[in-house]
Amino acid sequence: MTSTMPTTASGAESADGAIELDAVILGAGVAGLYQLHQLRQQGLRVVVVDQASDVGGTWFWNRYPGARFDSEAYIYQYLFDEDLYKDWSWSEKFPGQPEIERWMHYIADRLDLRRDIRFDTAITSAHFDEERNRWTVRTDRGDVIDAQFFVSCAGMLSAPLESVFAGQDSFRGQLFHTSRWPASGVELAGKRVGVIGVGATGIQVIQTVADQVAHLTVFARTPQYVLPMKTPAFGPAEQAAYKERFEELKTTLPHTFTGFEYDFEHVWADCTPQRRREILEEIYADGSLKLWLAGFAEMFFDEQVSAEISEFVREKMRARLVDPRLIDILVPADYGFGTHRVPLERGYLEVYHRDNVELVGVRDNPIARIVPEGIELADGSVHELDVIVMATGFDAGTGSLTRIDVRGRDGRSLADDWGRDIRSMMGLQVYGYPNLLTTAIPLAPSAALCNMATCLQQQTEWISDAIEHVRSEGASTIEPTAAGEQAWVDHHEEVAGANLISKTSGWYLGSNVPGKPRRVLSYTGGVGTYRQKCTAEAEAGYPGFLIK
Ligand code: NAP
Repeated sequence: MTSTMPTTASGAESADGAIELDAVILGAGVAGLYQLHQLRQQGLRVVVVDQASDVGGTWFWNRYPGARFDSEAYIYQYLFDEDLYKDWSWSEKFPGQPEIERWMHYIADRLDLRRDIRFDTAITSAHFDEERNRWTVRTDRGDVIDAQFFVSCAGMLSAPLESVFAGQDSFRGQLFHTSRWPASGVELAGKRVGVIGVGATGIQVIQTVADQVAHLTVFARTPQYVLPMKTPAFGPAEQAAYKERFEELKTTLPHTFTGFEYDFEHVWADCTPQRRREILEEIYADGSLKLWLAGFAEMFFDEQVSAEISEFVREKMRARLVDPRLIDILVPADYGFGTHRVPLERGYLEVYHRDNVELVGVRDNPIARIVPEGIELADGSVHELDVIVMATGFDAGTGSLTRIDVRGRDGRSLADDWGRDIRSMMGLQVYGYPNLLTTAIPLAPSAALCNMATCLQQQTEWISDAIEHVRSEGASTIEPTAAGEQAWVDHHEEVAGANLISKTSGWYLGSNVPGKPRRVLSYTGGVGTYRQKCTAEAEAGYPGFLIK
């Protein structure tokens, strides 16, 4: 079979039409771009395959109204090259998706990456050939790639939950999942718009479109704790100031608990009630994720501390919502603050005071189906709509790989293996899948609990070093040992079990996907600790891995 994939300068085409490479990378987002750069620097013949028509990953797909950072722009950065960092200037603290997408184009251009990326191409299968110790990767364009290493940079939130309700196809209006928003935009003015979901995504959509649409109906099931965002503009002085901090950020970010610039500073037991309140007020006023990620670490382990901080946030929300009905639907009552991903918002709660906005609680009266006119609830009532926005989330961490036919040793299927139990070795490899190297999969902080740029740089650098090690040893494969992976799973479980995150339903636990095995997806031991453990593993000669 002849491949439709252009042969890269670095890849050869074999007699049977397969492109022979050293590595194939899935995904041209934050991780994939840097992974490509590194492996090319190491002299590997490598190609990136992405379904999107350009670079960006998350920031290509999530172009829904209001999409923006909630990591500070100056830390959501590559830190391996000072000039690359300093030659880009952010316009505000938490910029919107268009600016982030432009930044990713800047990265691709500066590092001349596009020549080794195949866009508009989906990987459909990846099978490990045990006789040759190589992966055969096939695409929906009929390409066959023969590569020693298969590196997944697919992202943790790349598999959208698009088909959720019966009757979706019958809808007479327009229906979009937020992460499949058309690049050409959607005309919302004068329309009756329904948003399903009040996660971080739904919140950004709701607060952005409320004053653009004729009527907005929000369907909310589980309430969310929210924190207000402050996103001051950055002019030349602010840009110069954060760029001055390059060395400091480069040194500190990799070692904090979440890869942010701030860390837990205060000890609950050491503070008087009055001092605790002062600290909470102060970090709440920061307009960032500080209250979650740099308040009191005890909040994650101690029910009493969790209860007090949760009540602090509820109090703030109630004061803004005022109306008891809104409070009942929108203010969480039965789980702790920070045990579910905390969204930052801008005027979100006030949206519900607008005359053109209707809040529909679907906890007790769930969405039954989509009908031609709109959304029907269990009680038979129908909300008539022109546009339905599905802010219904993702099959996090595993979905991007289980939706591909990935087969390892003995023909084992990753979808089957993870369908039984979600396991990995440090989120970097999976037992049974030699030379499959992974970023942003479960059992690492990059599955959820970190500033993604910090974590993805660390993981891709670890992967590059591991590949270099295999090659320099004259070996052909690297794979975790069963015992090595089990030890990591045990450690992960022990750490996760102590964290109140393990008690709250949601995508952090995989409970948003019917039938998905439950496990805290993210390693909760901290980004700095995780890095130390990964580095120690490599420095000790990879004792938890079999290299042969
Ligand atoms: P999500 O947090 O999983 O929220 C999905 C929402 O859809 C939830 O409110 C969920 O309700 C609702 N939903 C799903 N199925 C439903 C059904 N059958 N009936 C009613 N409601 C239903 O997904 P997300 O908002 O897309 O956010 C995912 C993650 O993306 C975030 O947690 C965050 O990590 C990331 N994100 C980041 C940013 C940023 O600022 N950088 C922005 C957006 C998203 P239930 O909770 O009741 O299931």
